[in-house]
Amino acid sequence: MASWFKALKKTRNVFKEVLSKVVKGRERLDEETLEELESSLLQADVSPRLAGEIIASLEKHCRGKEVEKTEALKEVLLKQFHNEARFNWRGIDKPYCILIVGINGSGKTTTSAKLGLQAREAGLKPLLGAADTFRAAGTDQVRMWADRLSIPVVAGQQNSDAASVAFDAMDALVARDLDVLIIDTAGRMHTKKPLMDELEKINRALSKRIPAAPHETWIVLDGSNGQNAISQARFFNDVVPLTGIIITKLDGSSKAGFLFSVSQELKVPILFTGVGEQAEDLVPFDAEAFVNALVGTETEETVDAEIA
Ligand code: GDP
Repeated sequence: MASWFKALKKTRNVFKEVLSKVVKGRERLDEETLEELESSLLQADVSPRLAGEIIASLEKHCRGKEVEKTEALKEVLLKQFHNEARFNWRGIDKPYCILIVGINGSGKTTTSAKLGLQAREAGLKPLLGAADTFRAAGTDQVRMWADRLSIPVVAGQQNSDAASVAFDAMDALVARDLDVLIIDTAGRMHTKKPLMDELEKINRALSKRIPAAPHETWIVLDGSNGQNAISQARFFNDVVPLTGIIITKLDGSSKAGFLFSVSQELKVPILFTGVGEQAEDLVPFDAEAFVNALVGTETEETVDAEIA
């Protein structure tokens, strides 16, 4: 079972020293400790504006009061997540369509497969759509995952029209009486106009078949990219309005602090996080478990139990 505690080890290490000072807690948080804490937040890739706000808020929270410092810090950190929501597989209107976007290498294909598995575990009949027709390996990889997980797939040939693959996949979803289509798309350079045109075209093709489709457009962001991932997400959000964020590779990242800013800046919730390469390693985002694992005060067993 995936563990937040394990996944956040690298980012937690950034805070270790300063946290022990905070916890040892002389009765006041002195200037030096606050400065150290701010620089740890920056090192963990919290944006400078937000790091400043967190420190100011913590200082205010603790001023003139006997408070448990780690609890105060957790409370302040937790307040940064106010867009978060859980995605409820069981509450969807069938047939349902989820479009997965993001730049190459962010983990789109792996995440699409992981989502297919989650949908099935929630009692739904999933279908994978492989619309990354730009890369030769793009569709092969989706096929490989589909095979491994025994999930049906509709895949296009290399260089075929991605929008028509998307349209065919929607057709198959309806014709085969399946419940949820998860479409993996191409992600070459987000700055290039052709990709954005292609995504718009895919959107139009999907809504031709079912007007409300895609019901969701989720962006996959590589957690080791930190703040840079936020500017990528903005580009996509301008073209295909995003309804959710998935952060991958948190397990290898020391920059998990950017999660505090990403949903605030985009006003889009973080729905899931990838914490490993296996099909099961995608967990619903849980702000409280995230903060606990970051501040490092929970035992691993407790955090695992929360995820399970
Ligand atoms: P795409 O180009 O966006 O489709 O990215 P892929 O799905 O091919 O993933 C790129 C690499 O990232 C692969 O080696 C995946 O195994 C790896 N990957 C994806 N998600 C995660 C994750 O949550 N944790 C780790 N450690 N690796 C991941």
